[in-house]
Amino acid sequence: MNDWAADRARAVLPSVLLSWLLALPLACSDSSHTTAEFFVFGTLVEVQLFDTDHDRAQGLFASLQEEFQRMHHQWHAWEPGELSRVNDAFRAGDSIETTPDIVELVRLSQHMEKRSGGRFNPAIGALISLWGFHTSEFPIFGPPPRDSDIESALKGNPSTLDIAINGRELHSANNSVQLDFGAIAKGYALDIAAEMILAADIEAAIVNAGGDMMTIGSLPGRPWKIAVRDPLGGLAGSIDIASGAAVFTSGNYQRFREHADERYPHIIDPRTGWPVQEIASVTVVADYGAVADAAATALMVTDSSEWLRIAENIGIEAFLVIDESGQIYASDTMSELFTPAEGRDYRLLD
Ligand code: ADP
Ligand code: MG
Repeated sequence: MNDWAADRARAVLPSVLLSWLLALPLACSDSSHTTAEFFVFGTLVEVQLFDTDHDRAQGLFASLQEEFQRMHHQWHAWEPGELSRVNDAFRAGDSIETTPDIVELVRLSQHMEKRSGGRFNPAIGALISLWGFHTSEFPIFGPPPRDSDIESALKGNPSTLDIAINGRELHSANNSVQLDFGAIAKGYALDIAAEMILAADIEAAIVNAGGDMMTIGSLPGRPWKIAVRDPLGGLAGSIDIASGAAVFTSGNYQRFREHADERYPHIIDPRTGWPVQEIASVTVVADYGAVADAAATALMVTDSSEWLRIAENIGIEAFLVIDESGQIYASDTMSELFTPAEGRDYRLLD
């Protein structure tokens, strides 16, 4: 890396970190990039376009704003909207015609549920609601649900594979299926945003959705540098991305229920009905946001002895896990992209 590129890398890394750690609007002083912020999916989404003229940027930001709002309302897991109409129909055993992107989310979910052996399963909306996680205010307080209630939420074995797709029509043979796209929607939304950015002939851009990142194109002479937050505080390290890719993290340290000094995070093992407590975070690099997002959640729910097998099934090569003790693990491919923070080390998975 030459000096100029090194300076630029140092300039971008802190801005990525700042917006992530503090979620504060960024003051944009660098004339080479244009920034806009949107509040959707319960998080701040920041879009940075590089070397773009003002008018083109403003037109694209207006389209992105409209599209983000549409996705937010249509896919919302607990507010009345298109997805709640679909869930009502499933509960009643009716067929329902819906939007092309909800059909696509179902299709992607079926693929990821099958490949992850049910560790990723967005049909468990009733269970997530039972745990009280259908809220934007975290942490939540109070005891976990009763065992008998967890058992009855799982009794119907809800699975996205119970959903039949016929064009734009959906029908669930199982009335316990309640869709909650919380673990894949943001990823799919960033895929759609990336398509819109590319279609506007923007050559380099980065989207930061509360720490989940999508890079579009590349910057001259240097890789994208993505910060990986340490669940115990500070930085675990950074990931270098050569050209467009998605970097998604699932974590159990921001959204959880708390009771009697015990934390119950919002990522649930669909096979037991209980939250995952052993793993602090999983970060995945993939070509598509939807895949990276769903895969990060699936690996959160995976026992350490099976990380490599499940990742391979899902088609993921680059992933990083941080366990509750702060130990970092990296897959072989991830180790080529990851630089640990000073004083941090990681174990290679093989
Ligand atoms: P984050 O919010 O940290 O990005 P995820 O991408 O893992 O986390 O999404 C977590 C959300 O996905 C939960 O709030 C819940 O709505 C839903 N969810 C929880 N467990 C699962 C699971 N095993 N499979 C699919 N969706 C899940
Ligand atoms: Mg996810």
